[in-house]
Amino acid sequence: MPDRLTLLFDADDTLWDNNVHFERAIEAWLAVVCNGRWTPEAARDELDRIEEANFRSGGVGTSAFGVHLRLAAERILPPADLAAAIPRIEAIVAAMPRGAVTLFSSVAETLDALRLRHTLGLVTRGDPAEQWAKIDASGLRDRFTHIAVVEQKVPDTYRELTARWGLDPAATVMIGNSPRSDIVPAREAGFRAVLVSHATTWRLELAEVDPDDDGVAHVDRFAQLLELF
Ligand SMILES: [Mg+2]
Repeated sequence: MPDRLTLLFDADDTLWDNNVHFERAIEAWLAVVCNGRWTPEAARDELDRIEEANFRSGGVGTSAFGVHLRLAAERILPPADLAAAIPRIEAIVAAMPRGAVTLFSSVAETLDALRLRHTLGLVTRGDPAEQWAKIDASGLRDRFTHIAVVEQKVPDTYRELTARWGLDPAATVMIGNSPRSDIVPAREAGFRAVLVSHATTWRLELAEVDPDDDGVAHVDRFAQLLELF
């Protein structure tokens, strides 16, 4: 492995909390839509189906999420109940934080140490305005030589970044909490990868990581990256 690497970081649920805000909103939404007729599990499955159908095309972010909550409510609630539910759902989405972040512990110090030895980049997926607002609010922007907000994280995304930033895949590592978005497609593009465990990774982001793949390392805490790099 070359001495100097390019370390690319996912942002949401890798550098700062994100999914927890969506999980809390879903809890509030379930209280609005279930009404004794649907179980919370069945309603959540209905929402997952809509989000999965839009995973690649419909974008992610608070606005898209609000649309998905409403679409799922339209399938769950009878028309007579829907009219009263819509403003309550809109209020749930309006109360979600936008452009504010809480960094996980040791993130800033760990990045400061890593950037003395390596080139750092940020690759985050979502609504560009929302993601850039979070990057600015994080105070971390200056740590990164490269930053991209992308629409999806598939192998071609990482190949395009390889070309755009002049990366050597053999000297590039993607670090993130999502097997589906950060690990599997980055490996397909020839990068190595580090999966950073996170307790509440979004259900749709889970995927199988080959346990025998020695190009993937696992850490439980962000600061453990200093032991790897
Ligand atoms: Mg993430």
